[in-house]
Amino acid sequence: MALLSIVLPSYNEEQNIAHTTQVLSELLQQEQIDYELIFVSDGSKDGTYQEILKAAEQNPRVRGAQFSRNFGKEASIFAGLQLASGDAVVVMDCDLQHPPQVIVQMWKLWNAGYEVVEGIKTSRGRESFLHKCFAGAFYRIMSALIKMDMNASSDYKLLDRKVVDVLLELPEKNTFFRALTFWAGFKTVSVEYEVQERIYGESKWSFFSLMRYAIANATSFSTLPLQLVTVLGLVSILFSLVLAVQTLVKYLTGTAVEGFTTVILLILIIGGFIMLSLGIIGHYIARIYEEVKGRPRYIISHMTDNVRGKEAQSR
Ligand code: UDP
Ligand code: MG
Repeated sequence: MALLSIVLPSYNEEQNIAHTTQVLSELLQQEQIDYELIFVSDGSKDGTYQEILKAAEQNPRVRGAQFSRNFGKEASIFAGLQLASGDAVVVMDCDLQHPPQVIVQMWKLWNAGYEVVEGIKTSRGRESFLHKCFAGAFYRIMSALIKMDMNASSDYKLLDRKVVDVLLELPEKNTFFRALTFWAGFKTVSVEYEVQERIYGESKWSFFSLMRYAIANATSFSTLPLQLVTVLGLVSILFSLVLAVQTLVKYLTGTAVEGFTTVILLILIIGGFIMLSLGIIGHYIARIYEEVKGRPRYIISHMTDNVRGKEAQSR
């Protein structure tokens, strides 16, 4: 019988572990799906890991790990994929904002031969107006960059073992899980779901952490901003050609004294372009620097005893 692993990244979610475990195990038992739940506590500072241990004691299908510090949701997703031993793996939030019933749909599609089942949001749940605008812009840009429609995509997905292995083989440390499954290809289908309200706890994302996340992800998938530097350079050259002609004409006609405004403006504009370009290049160098150091994506400090293989300790 095929095994379904469910990966649940959890950061300061002590109120959610027991409830989520109960909801999922009831559902999967009822559907007669052989399952395991993998909670990855992303360096939680509250009792999340203790809750995972408690859940694991009551239900041997619950496994879990605790990071040595907060490494971010991407890292906890990848740790979960690494620890999972299922033939199919579902990644979902542990706050049940991803409705569990959809797992059954995903599972059926997987049994029908699909290798990736993408969860697509029909509504974005309750979000601030600013958040919606930025998320909208971000997904439009990302979709253009990776030439695939990513709008309304989420981290709620089912992946076949083959796809999981492909993702785990990737040497890069800065990953964007949501887009990587599009990038990987495979036989893909999508299911729609409606984002639920959070029952316990609160969202871990602030506006600034989302901005950082957006920039990191966009640059991890595209070098287009670097080409923007070239475009800025070309624009400045064209502009300076026009001004050069004008300046020369003025000089030859003997009216060349004025023009401090032009000089100041030019210095400001070109200075701005140069600094912007250096910033963009610097950002990519920073990313290269981080990758080259080759540090692990995460460090596991504790694991429940039932986790397969110790080789998964850190990656
Ligand atoms: N999460 C995580 N590490 C982090 C932040 C969040 O593992 O640094 C987990 C969190 O516990 C939750 C999921 O990622 O299961 C989504 O986070 P959250 O619900 O805060 O985000 P939202 O649903 O508001 O987008
Ligand atoms: Mg949530």
